[in-house]
Amino acid sequence: MNKPFILVVDDDPQVLAAVRRDLRSRYREQYTTLSASSGQQALETVRELKSRGDSLAMVISDQRMPGMPGHEVLAGIRDLYPLARRVLLTAYSDIDAAIKAINDAHIDHYLSKPWDPPEERLFPVIDELLDAWLAESLPEATGLRLVGHQWSARSHAIKEFLAGNLIPYRWLDADADPDARALLDAASVRLDELPVLFFEDGTMLRDLEPRRVAERLGRPLSASFDLYDLVIVGAGPAGLAAAVYGASEGLRTLMLDRHAPGGQAGTSSRIENYLGFPAGISGSELTRRGLAQAQRLGAESLAPLEVTRVAIDGGYKHLALADGRELVTRTLLAATGMTYREHPAPGIAEHAGAGVYYGAATTEGSAFRGRRVLVIGGGNSAGQGAMYLARYAADVQIVVRREDLRRTMSQYLIDQIGKTPNIRLRPCTELASVDGNGRVEHVGLKSLADGTHQVEDADAVFIFIGTQPRSDWLPGEVLRDGKGFVLTGTDLVAAESFTRVWKERRQPLMLESSVPGLFAAGDIRAGAMNRVASAAGEGSIVVRLVHQYLAMS
Ligand SMILES: Cc1cc2nc3c(=O)[nH]c(=O)nc-3n(C[C@H](O)[C@H](O)[C@H](O)COP(=O)(O)OP(=O)(O)OC[C@H]3O[C@@H](n4cnc5c(N)ncnc54)[C@H](O)[C@@H]3O)c2cc1C
Repeated sequence: MNKPFILVVDDDPQVLAAVRRDLRSRYREQYTTLSASSGQQALETVRELKSRGDSLAMVISDQRMPGMPGHEVLAGIRDLYPLARRVLLTAYSDIDAAIKAINDAHIDHYLSKPWDPPEERLFPVIDELLDAWLAESLPEATGLRLVGHQWSARSHAIKEFLAGNLIPYRWLDADADPDARALLDAASVRLDELPVLFFEDGTMLRDLEPRRVAERLGRPLSASFDLYDLVIVGAGPAGLAAAVYGASEGLRTLMLDRHAPGGQAGTSSRIENYLGFPAGISGSELTRRGLAQAQRLGAESLAPLEVTRVAIDGGYKHLALADGRELVTRTLLAATGMTYREHPAPGIAEHAGAGVYYGAATTEGSAFRGRRVLVIGGGNSAGQGAMYLARYAADVQIVVRREDLRRTMSQYLIDQIGKTPNIRLRPCTELASVDGNGRVEHVGLKSLADGTHQVEDADAVFIFIGTQPRSDWLPGEVLRDGKGFVLTGTDLVAAESFTRVWKERRQPLMLESSVPGLFAAGDIRAGAMNRVASAAGEGSIVVRLVHQYLAMS
């Protein structure tokens, strides 16, 4: 098997030689560096790599080249290698070209020339991008392989678990992939036993269930201590930020998640508005970085592990875990965010995981290459989902009840959607039914303008509609608003039953709930901003409040 490739594209022989020299000096062992002196030549090289089944990790292209500018080269390569990292090389004065490339070609980074010294200005960027590529891709035929049926809810659950926990794996559809059949025959696995996991050492795991998979992969699932200063429930942006600050400020900190780190943000294909990432960042990459940072600073992280109940005992909070064990902590952060509400249309529940997916565009997108898919919902998450699916599907329809997207989606996404020819908007329309034989085959759509019904062929429905808080695990003493979001700080003081439940002499701290020492941050909080940055900001602030609370108690 060949090493993965890095391709450098530049019409200036001196610049080309300099980039190649620097890259080879550092990455020679793991990557082969190729070069092309024009956009045309680059695309030919990439097509050849593809036809040979080689891996392409990164393309670095100069912007100013005769014939084909860099952003067009990078856009062209994206269709063939969607995961390859794309870097634009620009002159310092070319900031406009870089911005255009970010918007149109979705590049991952732009580098200004010159990049001397490379140790400071080139290698850190390339290291991060290659790490991100490695985390998302897996060289063919090595590593973990999941064999299952595409239209199976159990296979989908394991895919979600592996992707959510940033465990690279290769998916083999037993009904379509000849490699899958060969593996199953060799291991004498029947089709009704799927999904199964094959490990690099040749062993196999049946009866897949996220906890068993985590155990087999050597992931810790038990807490190291009996008592913590801070336990964080939920590892979305709020939880991850609290873990980073808690651990860095010397608190014995544990973070738990019922599914995987990342939360809703982890399912986002591209977060474009998080400070410091001008080219956007995928939710999985942001999670990978946040988790690594929290763990490096000493936070403990366990997933999948669900907290089912909390009992308050004086200053201590006792957490009941889904596996029957119990944990005790002096302070608790509820950072369990929100989840999508179930769509009520007939046929939806029966096809969950078999063509009906809740916000799972990044996990399932590539399985719908050349197919027809529907995105239900008009918010930013739906817009991002549609943009991601459009890389693979032939036809993406966004179904919304309103007349347009203006009031529900950010303008930058509306603009991107407008420029993507295989995305169509179906305004004033409602999903009325889903049906098919074991998988989604047809959808019923109702026009809200004239009440007419239409049945159309479709292969998948991705649902991004209304959300609800995940606060049912919290004790009754925690005051919530009418929808179940947790009241904190001044909102709490304003609540009718505040004086009945709050028995302290002091006022509640800013993000404190009606139970002293139990805080809430991020989307679970009443009045939350529903943004990655605000959730991460609140998660960081909580740690300061935890110190204050511990000093008072
Ligand atoms: C597809 C999509 C795209 C988005 N794009 C953007 C964007 O571009 N920019 C932006 O600013 N915002 C975006 N958002 C919104 C943003 O992701 C959320 O506001 C943010 O993730 C909220 O963070 P959080 O930590 O409060 O909760 P969440 O991210 O909801 O995380 C909560 C975590 O708690 C875990 N959990 C729940 N219950 C339990 C339990 N009982 N025990 C243990 N763990 C539990 C869940 O598994 C989950 O991992 C997007 C959201 C979605 C869905």
